[in-house]
Formats: sequence, structure tokens, C-alpha cells
Amino acid sequence: MQIIHHIKDLRQVIKEARNARGELRVGFVPTMGYLHQGHASLLEAARKQCDLVILSIFVNPLQFGPNEDLSRYPRDEERDLAVAKATGTDIVFFPTVQEMYPNPTKTIVSVSGVTERLCGTSRPGHFDGVATVVTKLFNIVQPDFAFFGMKDAQQIAVIQQMVDDLNNPVEIVPCKIVREEDGLALSSRNVYLQPEEREQALVLSSALKMAEKFVQEHEGSLQAAELQEAVKRHIAQSSIAEIDYADILAYPSLEQVTDLRSVPAFIIALAVKFGKTRLIDNTIIRW
Ligand code: AMP
Repeated sequence: MQIIHHIKDLRQVIKEARNARGELRVGFVPTMGYLHQGHASLLEAARKQCDLVILSIFVNPLQFGPNEDLSRYPRDEERDLAVAKATGTDIVFFPTVQEMYPNPTKTIVSVSGVTERLCGTSRPGHFDGVATVVTKLFNIVQPDFAFFGMKDAQQIAVIQQMVDDLNNPVEIVPCKIVREEDGLALSSRNVYLQPEEREQALVLSSALKMAEKFVQEHEGSLQAAELQEAVKRHIAQSSIAEIDYADILAYPSLEQVTDLRSVPAFIIALAVKFGKTRLIDNTIIRW
């Protein structure tokens, strides 16, 4: 496994690998590090599908708001490298902020529509930061396949829209959410949770399970407002859960929907704060 810090070195190594082998499938997994089994599952999917697997670890300042957790975002370089190695990753790209943004960027990639709800509303500028850094990383790596987790379902919708609009020749591969045994979706931010918060955070996955059952029981017709009400009531069982949003939207368009039977698929998307920690989770229902 090679660890590369500079863009020009990474380009050179990929160029050499492509020259050495005509039909090289390059798989790319962009992350912010503090890797867990969710990240590992993306690397494993890439390993199965691709000849060269590249992981990037970069905590992108552009996607954090002024009052967010950029300065305290958890980091553990040594453990990250061990996780990467265990999944058979070929290259870890570990740039500094200076390497990625030697000058303040004057170009921002901004996707409209799909960014206008959910985290797009509660984290203004977040998806501009994501779309911009992913564009930069795609330009640096030029992958054939890029692997993203459905944990960030809106992020996948945004990136797919961007790739389609800009004719980027990369295939986006969505990978399913990896959870703890008790249901909590794995997240680098779970380390912030105090024991009481960790326990109460289970209300997220249990709300989604309840919602799936609710949908099954209302096969005939189902209004988004009805389901949303049931989900919010479920989350309110936790005395410390502070709902940022609990929304039901068509997926992947993220357009508002009234009659859930009128769309082929919809998302139940949650963002809930436990103390200072904001967690997200979702499930997608396809008829
Ligand atoms: P992050 O490091 O949080 O930016 O995440 C990097 C990638 O890992 C994104 O594509 C995430 O959607 C994905 N990811 C994070 N948590 C999970 C999870 N629990 N299951 C699957 N993928 C995940």
C-alpha cells in the first residue's frame, strides 16, 4: 500500500498503472478519515470491482460551517492506515489543506434542486463544499468508479446530479448503510456521544424500522404527512433527542411528495441532535 501526500505524485502513480495495463479499472473511495466498518465496506466493494483501489483521507474545511466541528473532527492516522491495509487498498491519498487549497478557491461547484432540502437547509454551504472537493478529487484521480455510502443519501443524490450534469465519466456506486449490532448507523461522529446519548441515539434506527412497518401496514394509500407524524412521535420518546429534520421526500429527486404511492421511491431522512452531536440516518422505500 502506498501513502501519497502530493497531487502530482498521485497523478504520476496512476498514470504509470494505467500505462502498464490497458484496461485498468480505477476505484475511488473519498473519506474524511477516522475509518470504521462503513468506510471499510466501501473499500471492500471497490476491491471486488476494481484493479486499483484509491482511498482519500481529507477533512475538507470547505464543507464545514463556522459553528461546526471542523477543529475537533476526530483523526487517527495510524488506525486509518491499518483499516485501509486490511481491506487491500492500493493507494491512500492523504493531502494537507495546503495541498488541496494552496490559494482560497474562487471556483465553487454548486448543485441546485437536490441541495435545497434536508442537510442543504440545515447546513448552508455544506453541499457546495462537498461538490467542490469531490470535483477536485475526481479531477485528480480520474476514477472509473467511485463508492459512496447510502448513510449520506442526499450526498449521493447531489454527486450523481453533478456527474450527470457535467458529463464526468465516473460511475457512482452507492453502498448500503453499515450499522452497529443494535442498529446505530456507524459514523465517525459517534465517538462524541456520551453514554446516555449513545443509548438514546438508538431512537433513530428504531424510528426507521417502525416507519418501514408502518408503510407495510398502510399498503393501500399512504400520505407523507401521516408517516412523518408517526416518525416524529417515535423520536419524541427520547427525552434528549432534538429533531433537526424528519422528512419524507421522493428519492433521488428529493422533491416534496404528498401521496407516497405516486412516486416509485421515497426517503425517510432524519437528522437529530443528542447533546452537541448531530446524527443522520435514513431508509429508502421502493415500491
Ligand atoms: P465520511 O468520512 O463521513 O465523509 O464518509 C466517507 C464515506 O463513507 C461516505 O460515502 C459515507 O457515506 C460513507 N459512510 C459513512 N458512514 C457509513 C456507514 N455507516 N455505512 C456505509 N457507508 C458509510
